[in-house]
Amino acid sequence: MHNFYRNILIIWLLQLAFQCPTYAQSVAVKYRNLNQPETSLPTVEHNNVIFVSLYRFAGVLNGATHFDNRTKKLTLTLEEVTIVATAFNPFVLVGNNMFQMTSETLLQDNDFLVPLNDFSAIITRFFPDRVYYDKATNTLEISEFRNTNILSIQIEQKANGNLIRMVTTRRFAEADVRLRDRHGWLYADIYGGRVDSVALSQTTRQGIVRQIVPQQVSDKTAQIGFRLTEPVLEKQVYVENPYEILITLKTKNNIADELSSELERERKKWLLDKIVIDPGHGGKDPGAVGKFSYEKDITLAIAFKLRKLIQERTKIQVLMTREDDRLPKLKDRTEFANRNQAKLFISIHVNANPSRRLHGVSTYFLGPEKSDEAREVALLENSVIKYESESQYDDLSNENFILSTMAQNVYNFESEDLAAMVQQELATGCDLTDLGVRQGNFWVLLGASMPNIIVETAFISNRQEEKRLNSAEFQQQVAEAIFNGIMKFKQKYEKGI
Ligand SMILES: [Zn+2]
Repeated sequence: MHNFYRNILIIWLLQLAFQCPTYAQSVAVKYRNLNQPETSLPTVEHNNVIFVSLYRFAGVLNGATHFDNRTKKLTLTLEEVTIVATAFNPFVLVGNNMFQMTSETLLQDNDFLVPLNDFSAIITRFFPDRVYYDKATNTLEISEFRNTNILSIQIEQKANGNLIRMVTTRRFAEADVRLRDRHGWLYADIYGGRVDSVALSQTTRQGIVRQIVPQQVSDKTAQIGFRLTEPVLEKQVYVENPYEILITLKTKNNIADELSSELERERKKWLLDKIVIDPGHGGKDPGAVGKFSYEKDITLAIAFKLRKLIQERTKIQVLMTREDDRLPKLKDRTEFANRNQAKLFISIHVNANPSRRLHGVSTYFLGPEKSDEAREVALLENSVIKYESESQYDDLSNENFILSTMAQNVYNFESEDLAAMVQQELATGCDLTDLGVRQGNFWVLLGASMPNIIVETAFISNRQEEKRLNSAEFQQQVAEAIFNGIMKFKQKYEKGI
């Protein structure tokens, strides 16, 4: 052959070799954890790069493909991830991420070819542990690759209703799920949901769910039908854990149960089963000082007698803020009652006034002062804070006090009621002048989350009343009167619950 023609032939053969991919060794496809037989993917080699058909690749991954002939773009959808490759272009778009491969894609004989190594690596990035191309053994390993994102449905019967729990492989928002019910069925339309209807219909039926019918109604929407044994009155979707869709269903019975447990809680709130008795003052604070006695000793003596009465005659638990001569801080007294979830807080005090003629009994509850007398009493009782090194009460002007009273004491109405009942018993049972029920800014009552009162038993500043206050007989009468008042309150608030 002439050298010239031989050279032409060689050049032509070389061009052919560069331009046309040649068949190369197939890639073994192994499915791990899946009951699928091993298969293989044919490959072609072009410029020393191994290419694989993207259609066939999608096939072994159980993904969907769409080719746009105008833009020459091929979209592969794997679960919720879209992967877009363009013909004769090295760039691949995955979601919002762009990747560059070392070679351009090829379009040949209506097949779309991608470089196997690079393209696999991109997929592996998004589905680690599920797709892996091992170059050494020329094997593509695929595991647990499913075209579904709603993996399982569990139905749980809870005390307050039925809970449908769907475990998903991707995040769903509450807005992706639409519920509607008709003719004894509840339908959950899940936008973006993909289901394997055979697998999901195996879900164990429970509670009010008699049958489950999952179906892929469109490319974008999965619908799961639940046939119910009784109508639901309330239904709601929650997404708390990002990979779980929760649907709660409540029937008439569930709602009735809920109502009765709500009533039970309300009942328990008023079940008078624990009382805190607070003997005023103590320790270095003597309280009001009489001719021969201290308020702190009288309040403790009455408190002991009251405790004894309650313990002997009822099953109510009694706690005391102090049982000896010590001085608990004002705020610690109500905190103690709150912490112990007491149902009543009763602070026992003894009154005093510069005017020695003043005598009688009064009962206070927390609220803005309406008289100078009430202000005087509150000032006197609040003066105990001078014994507390760091004070949290300074900023409580009368206006602030009213606000914190309103904010903190939701039991004001009941406190007034209790005060009235106790006051009436004290006035009639102890032969004391009735000075009435009053409200005042008592710091010791602030923050109590239960009905709470202060009893100002009698005047230590009055000669005769001081004598009475120090007699065991009178102390017993006072304890009895307070006890009777508490019992009346208990009767009223526990009635009908
Ligand atoms: Zn006092």
